[in-house]
Amino acid sequence: MTLATLDLAAEVKAILGDLGVKAENYTGGTLAVRSPITGAEIGKLPEETPAGARQAIKAAHEAFLEWRLVPAPKRGELIRLLGEELRAAKTALGRLVSIEVGKVISEGLGEVQEMIDICDFAVGLSRQLYGLTIATERADHRMMETWHPLGAIGIISAFNFPVAVWSWNAALAIVCGNSTVWKPSEKTPLTALATQAIFDRALTRYVAEGYSAPKNLSTLLIGGREIGEILVDHKKVPLVSATGSTAMGRTVGLRLAQRFARSILELGGNNAAIVAPTADLDLTLRGVAFAAMGTAGQRCTTLRRLFVHESVYDALVPRLTKAYLSVTIGSPLENGTLVGPLIDKAAYEKMQKALEAAKSEGGKVTGGERVLGNEAADAYYVRPAIVEMPAQTGPVKDETFAPILYVMKYSSFEEALDLHNDVPQGLSSSIFTNDMREAETFVSARGSDCGIANVNIGPSGAEIGGAFGGEKETGGGRESGSDAWKAYMRRATNTLNYGRTLPLAQGVKFDI
Ligand code: NAD
Repeated sequence: MTLATLDLAAEVKAILGDLGVKAENYTGGTLAVRSPITGAEIGKLPEETPAGARQAIKAAHEAFLEWRLVPAPKRGELIRLLGEELRAAKTALGRLVSIEVGKVISEGLGEVQEMIDICDFAVGLSRQLYGLTIATERADHRMMETWHPLGAIGIISAFNFPVAVWSWNAALAIVCGNSTVWKPSEKTPLTALATQAIFDRALTRYVAEGYSAPKNLSTLLIGGREIGEILVDHKKVPLVSATGSTAMGRTVGLRLAQRFARSILELGGNNAAIVAPTADLDLTLRGVAFAAMGTAGQRCTTLRRLFVHESVYDALVPRLTKAYLSVTIGSPLENGTLVGPLIDKAAYEKMQKALEAAKSEGGKVTGGERVLGNEAADAYYVRPAIVEMPAQTGPVKDETFAPILYVMKYSSFEEALDLHNDVPQGLSSSIFTNDMREAETFVSARGSDCGIANVNIGPSGAEIGGAFGGEKETGGGRESGSDAWKAYMRRATNTLNYGRTLPLAQGVKFDI
């Protein structure tokens, strides 16, 4: 089937209908959505007004006041049901992700699997929101910490993980006793509508089981940056988890700090891998190819910089270049496609600009050209680009959200580490080596300065069990697994006196 013959609007209508989204929610509005697969319009959504957004945030706050009183394991039951509903909807929602973002089918399905996984994690967590009991210096006293719900949590998400990011935040926030208000990317609001419909079904089942839950526990605000700004500035939102570009985070972080609200910032990455002399080159080739070309280079964890030891450069780079020249590019809905389209024309133009800049710095570019333009003039498919650079200069230090891999040669491990860390971003990283000293050094305090540091796997494709996020201009936020839940709660330290005297700490006397 050629791109020109695909009727994606009809397919989207059928999927949304099956998932329970009403046609009035995605037709007749002002926000046009296009599938990057063909460039065709697949929806026109009514947008939230500023007044409507403020009203919705107020209602979410009221919902929080009620939900915080529900015992945490009972809150977990709602997320268990959400996990069940997501399992039932996996095929349909996964395909919708592929259509709206342009990811290959296994990645669309993988995104929904990630939502299911975080629900499972959050259900267990709902019985583990515990604090410490701490030794006190005062006799007949007990000191402990308790964790309490925070409020209506704002979630701002990017186009490239249109629904998983919501679930990482929402599943935890809700078991922690909060309500959520979600402003999805204006490029991918249809998957958000579908997710909200799935959540509503879980909520209906929860109430049918005899539990009570407030109506506005999970709210969706459709709109652009201005609606996001309302969420960021609203006094009833104590925490905003914002995922997107560093430029967005710079503004959002500042505005939140100004009103002393909390933030979880999940921003751009410029992820690297080091290929050491002892690396298993077959494994490295596969790891690098997936991390650099997968999702058409549109993951925050995409591999963008590769440092190859001079002794293995000639054994690896020509093979890698061959893979770049032969990778299957096309409709992500077709079996066998590995690289789908870029999200839009602007992304294509930024890629071309970065390649020009790389050339002017002495880079040797292979690939990068537009393909399939004859089949779909409004879609932007590119051959992933591999660029051999003489040094880490110019565009190599920026995140260009497209499949460009800059390859550089190194001679000593220390040099490779220095180059690795010498960029403003700090999300994900990896080393391919069978030298135990190098592997351990890479994950040690003097190794990678990123939030994620891997050995013998690429930097992309995280699991939900670990905390996810990065350092420096990546924003410092952590979400998903480990103890990331603590960011969605407030900690109170309690000291209880069960004696008959009142000793003061540090030996202070105050006898009246
Ligand atoms: P983007 O910054 O253009 O938009 C992200 C979201 O922020 C959208 O919902 C947008 O409407 C909103 N927004 C933009 N400006 C805002 C403002 N001033 N106030 C409130 N909301 C605002 O990003 P994008 O193009 O959708 O996504 C790609 C970027 O996201 C890349 O840089 C990528 O690395 C990053 N990303 C990071 C992670 C991570 O976990 N670190 C995950 C996915 C994507």
